[in-house]
Amino acid sequence: MSRHRLTVVLSQAQGKNPAKRALEESVAAALIMESGLDVSIVPYLYDLDPEHTGRLYMESIGGDMVVLSWMYPRAAYWLLDRVGVKGHYSENQITPPPEKDDEEDSEPAPPKGIGAVNVPNRHIYCLDMRDHNNHTIYVDEVRRIAAECRERRDAEAPKAPVALVQLGGLTTDNGPRTTDQFKPEQLLAQPGRRWYPVIDYSRCTNCMECLDFCLFGVYGVDSLDRINVENQDSCKRGCPACSRVCPEQAIMFPDYKTAAIAGAPVGNISGLKIDLTKLFGGGDAMAIAAQERDRELVADGRSAVGLTVGIPKRQADKTQEPKDDLDKLMDSLDALDI
Ligand code: SF4
Ligand code: SF4
Repeated sequence: MSRHRLTVVLSQAQGKNPAKRALEESVAAALIMESGLDVSIVPYLYDLDPEHTGRLYMESIGGDMVVLSWMYPRAAYWLLDRVGVKGHYSENQITPPPEKDDEEDSEPAPPKGIGAVNVPNRHIYCLDMRDHNNHTIYVDEVRRIAAECRERRDAEAPKAPVALVQLGGLTTDNGPRTTDQFKPEQLLAQPGRRWYPVIDYSRCTNCMECLDFCLFGVYGVDSLDRINVENQDSCKRGCPACSRVCPEQAIMFPDYKTAAIAGAPVGNISGLKIDLTKLFGGGDAMAIAAQERDRELVADGRSAVGLTVGIPKRQADKTQEPKDDLDKLMDSLDALDI
């Protein structure tokens, strides 16, 4: 096998939307005709639990990788990082449609977070299948990425050691596995839907405010004392409360309807004049988050705590807006569906 093969993983959309399935099939059918690519299909990335064959398969891939999924690239990349599918974040060159692009907003703020750890010498490209419904755009971009990866590997070849990857008693060289070793029907076993936060460590400063705020035991710290989404499935479905509390906009819920929380590029949200300090980290946001948290506490048979527990000190002196204003903000965000 050539060391320049590129693995392409297409992550299906949730549900059975025929238009989405048709796009997936068109992309996959075109890509499997390309030389130098190993193409696999797995269910919706966010829903894969630790035992799912699709996730084990992705964990076993050693080389450069393209991931096509129905979510923002930032969310897909950090979701994979969390489960050990690591690599250098690599930008794709697909231009989002105008409604997802914002020429008026400023450039995204430079990353100031603690970053990823143990990143191997390979690159991960995440493409958002929601950007276009023309499959050739994705196929052309994968071709371009394949050429870019070949050039990079050729330049690095003399100093690139071959790493071994261990998976379930099987040892493989650094080349990607194929569906010969992971049966397609196993890869495609449909998982149940999941809901949990994904942390963007390029933005996260390890302040632990999310850990203090969440009263459901979702967050913890890892062996390096870094914030970690420890108990993913303890998170309350549909609630994005802690994403509003994070001062760095580092917490994403890829399935949430507002783009800012789902992982849209920070500082580049839909061309809409939304005051993100109200959505993330402002006094309003904190009150909204507390309301959302209270709703889940009460649903669990516990007492509401309002703003008395786990609220960052930076909010202590902020004047809360009247409830009407909160409702108006929430209504306008819901109406905009950003
Ligand atoms: S609140 Fe945000 S910045 Fe602070 S530790 Fe949590 S994810 Fe990181
Ligand atoms: S959304 Fe709620 S339950 Fe889930 S991690 Fe955040 S605060 Fe905890």
